[in-house]
Amino acid sequence: MCKKCESNPVYILDNGKKLCNSHFTRYYEKKVFRTIAKYSLLEKGDKIAVAASGGKDSTTLLYILKKFCKERRFCKVEALAIDEGIKGYRDKSLSDLKKFCKKNKIKLHVFSFKKEFGFSLDEILIKARKKKIKLNSCYICGILRRYLINKYARKLKFTKLATGHNLDDEAQTIIMNQFKGNVALSANLGPKTGTSEDESFAQRIKPLYLCTEKENMIYSFIHNIVPHYTECPYQESYRFTIRDFLNKFEAKNPGIKNSIVKSFLEFLPLLKKKYKDKKTLKKCKKCKEPSSKDTCKTCELLAILKNKK
Ligand code: SF4
Ligand SMILES: [Zn+2]
Ligand SMILES: [Zn+2]
Repeated sequence: MCKKCESNPVYILDNGKKLCNSHFTRYYEKKVFRTIAKYSLLEKGDKIAVAASGGKDSTTLLYILKKFCKERRFCKVEALAIDEGIKGYRDKSLSDLKKFCKKNKIKLHVFSFKKEFGFSLDEILIKARKKKIKLNSCYICGILRRYLINKYARKLKFTKLATGHNLDDEAQTIIMNQFKGNVALSANLGPKTGTSEDESFAQRIKPLYLCTEKENMIYSFIHNIVPHYTECPYQESYRFTIRDFLNKFEAKNPGIKNSIVKSFLEFLPLLKKKYKDKKTLKKCKKCKEPSSKDTCKTCELLAILKNKK
C-alpha cells in the first residue's frame, strides 16, 4: 500500500481507490497505451500528426505520444496546428504550444486562416455579421479548420492524424447525434476512423478516447504540460449546451458518460456496417480537395462570405 496514495491523493477511482501523483500517472499512461493496443491505433513506421491547439487535451496527447514513440522507437510524432485568428485566445495558446514543442523537440507545422483564406476568424465573423449571414462561429471555424488539417496532413504525408478527443467529447457527440436524429453521423465515431488505404484523408485516431476530461486535466497539471488554461470567447456550438447538460447529469449520476461511450462501442460495429460505403468522394471542382458534392463545404462557405452583399 502506497502511503502517498492514502495521505495525498490527486484522484479517486470509481471503486473508491485513491491515487497519488505517481500512481495516477501509471494508471493514466496504462489506459492510453492499452487504448492504442486494443484498437490498433498505431503501426510500426507511422508518421503521426497531432492536431494541436495548445490546449490541455491536444498538448497532453503530444506529450504522451512523444513518450510512447521514444520508449518503443516505433513511430514519429509531429504537431499540426491551425491559427484561426482569434485575438487574445489562439495567439496565446499557440505561443504556449511553440514553447512546448521547442522544449520537447517536436516539429511544429502552423497554417493560418489568414494566409490560406485571406481572413482571420475574427475578420470573417465581423464580415458575416455585416452581411447578416446567420452562421455561427463554431460552424464556420470547424469547416475551415478541418479543411486545412486534412489538406496538410495529406500533403505532409502523415499516415495518422491523432486528435485529443476525450471520453467527455465522445459522449457529447453521441448524444448530440441522437438528439438531432443524425445517427448515421455516429458511424464516423470511435477510437479510429477511416481506413489506412483511403488516400484522401490521413486515418484519424483518438488515443485519449477512454480518458475523461478531468483525467487529462490532472495528468497535464502533474506534468506541467500546459501553463495556461484559456477558453475560446466564441463557443457558439450546440455541443456546449450538451456539455453543460451532461456535466450536470454526471454530477448526480457518476459514471454516466462512461456508460454512454461504453454502450455505444457495443453497437458501433453495426452502425459502421450499415453505413459503410454510402459516401462516394469526388474532388471539389474549385479547390480539388476531397468532397462528397461537386463543390466542397469550404468553397461554398467562402463563396457566401465573398458574394453576399
Ligand atoms: S469554440 Fe468554436 S470558434 Fe472557438 S475554436 Fe472552438 S470551434 Fe472555433
Ligand atoms: Zn501512490
Ligand atoms: Zn473546395
